[in-house]
Amino acid sequence: MAQLTEASLHLRRDLSVGFESCGKPNAFYDPQRSRVVFCFEMIELVAKLAQADGDFASRLDRPHFAKLVDGVVWGIFLHELGHAVIDIDRVPITGREEDVADQFALYYSVKFLEPRDVPVVLPTIWFFRALGKNRDIAASSPEAVKRLLADEHSLDDQRTYNLACWAFGANQTRGLSAAKFVGLPEERARRCAGEYARLDDGIRSRFRKYLKIKPQ
Ligand SMILES: [Zn+2]
Repeated sequence: MAQLTEASLHLRRDLSVGFESCGKPNAFYDPQRSRVVFCFEMIELVAKLAQADGDFASRLDRPHFAKLVDGVVWGIFLHELGHAVIDIDRVPITGREEDVADQFALYYSVKFLEPRDVPVVLPTIWFFRALGKNRDIAASSPEAVKRLLADEHSLDDQRTYNLACWAFGANQTRGLSAAKFVGLPEERARRCAGEYARLDDGIRSRFRKYLKIKPQ
């Protein structure tokens, strides 16, 4: 991850990547230490969710199961890398930084990792879908709903649909499996090509000068 970061991005100061024990499942960018921290507990959570997913993940053979977990780790890492670039290179953004970090991760995956046969998008979508399935908002207490809505992140299910829509918009052939996997509603699917075109334009104009490897 550190190597890929070094090879692909211009950063105004060094950024380290480390795996740490945090006491809870998490991954975050720490501006004070200029470090992307990946918690071991997060990898445990991903593996646990995959083992518990009887419909899909737990049925995969070992190599595919490992690829799924790897892909999720990449997806989460790229999201944190998005935060790091925004902070370190002072990339101007408006709107939710959390959504921009998801867009950065999606863009980076589609342009640089998936063409090298590293599946990231579908595993990441699977992960947010699994998180969303475990959280029944309708059955949550008003306090819990308030906390979710006040949080800076979009809801897990929204992130699932966003990523699937952008993947579908980026490439209708490759992204179709993502759209089908999450059951993306037709009315959203129709707008995904346009949505992705604006995302692509936005990332190019905001992040391009920090990307060492240029997208096609
Ligand atoms: Zn974030």
